[in-house]
Amino acid sequence: MANQTRYTGIIERYRDRLPVSADTRLISLCEGNTPLIQLQNIPRLIGKDVDIYVKFEGLNPTGSFKDRGMTMAVTKAVEEGSQAIICASTGNTSAAAAAYAVRAGIKAFVLIPEGKIALGKLAQTLMYGAQIIQINGNFDAGMDIVKKISDHAPVTIVNSINPYRIDGQKTAAFEIVDALGDAPDFHCLPVGNAGNITAYWKGYKEYSTDSATHKAVTKKRPVMCGYQAAGAAPFVARAMVDNPETVATAIRIGHPQSWDGAWTAQKQSGGWFESFTDQQILAAQKMLSSYEGIFCEPASATSLAGALHDIANGNIPEGSKIVCTLTGNGIKDPDIAISQCKDAHPVTIDATLDAVKKAILDSM
Ligand SMILES: *Cc1c(COP(=O)(O)O)cnc(C)c1O
Repeated sequence: MANQTRYTGIIERYRDRLPVSADTRLISLCEGNTPLIQLQNIPRLIGKDVDIYVKFEGLNPTGSFKDRGMTMAVTKAVEEGSQAIICASTGNTSAAAAAYAVRAGIKAFVLIPEGKIALGKLAQTLMYGAQIIQINGNFDAGMDIVKKISDHAPVTIVNSINPYRIDGQKTAAFEIVDALGDAPDFHCLPVGNAGNITAYWKGYKEYSTDSATHKAVTKKRPVMCGYQAAGAAPFVARAMVDNPETVATAIRIGHPQSWDGAWTAQKQSGGWFESFTDQQILAAQKMLSSYEGIFCEPASATSLAGALHDIANGNIPEGSKIVCTLTGNGIKDPDIAISQCKDAHPVTIDATLDAVKKAILDSM
């Protein structure tokens, strides 16, 4: 055990590939190091010879991949002397910003669309004590305001237009290559603001690029598949969408900020964008929980919905190694989960041994 070191987060682990110095005070909650779980039952169910792994980002400290970006963004904000951060959010960015602000001892302001944020995310943000500003408008409207506010108030923006967010999030690609020993053939992920697909592509490229200081870890790069919700699919439409709608609130975004980054990932990797209905997304979410024991939030399941669709139609051939990012934890959105299971009536019986025994034997 002597040479075992305590895991302290993504910045410490990938320090040589991140913009920090020896003196930088790291603001961390031990994010990252999330499991890469190989699916066992779903490949058998669909009868295809494919290796599907899910990178379960729902197991980060605030329950989504946003923590990877936030540890970097808040670390740099503090290093630059900032006393307050701000973001527009569909929920997960606000939860992460709030938590890391507490850790750093600075203030967090979050703009959220009224009534359109999942219950768990709202609960987190309240508990962390962020200053919540609800707006009568969607994420895109909040983002517009946040982009202008730093000219008027002393706050650092921690949305993914902050380049440190992308740098933090690219570490998920490093972890996947480290775990598999190489890049996968295909990488599937949900696309909202498109910061994450931009970050993964940056990560895969950096891990396959020799430079004076960075030895290449892999030469291989995956094909990047970006999947959207049908009602919020600007990359599929190749145009901004003004009134995005989807049950997957984390990707209910019509004006993605990382527009160019996502197109670069698509073009350079030979990938594509596609969209799926809310019904398809929820079916994939249910499939993951009921066949694999993995509970992600609706937006996250878009990656599996897309992968299964592209495996079925041959865009992703048999023999492929596929990674799907599960961006957030299912516990964040209990309302959607419970409404999906309204046919599973729990039985109520007498509190006796006999009654419980009968209930068990009757359903075996
Ligand atoms: C933020 C988020 C997304 C979308 O990521 P982008 O970088 O905006 O494309 C998807 N799923 C979940 C759970 C998220 O929190």
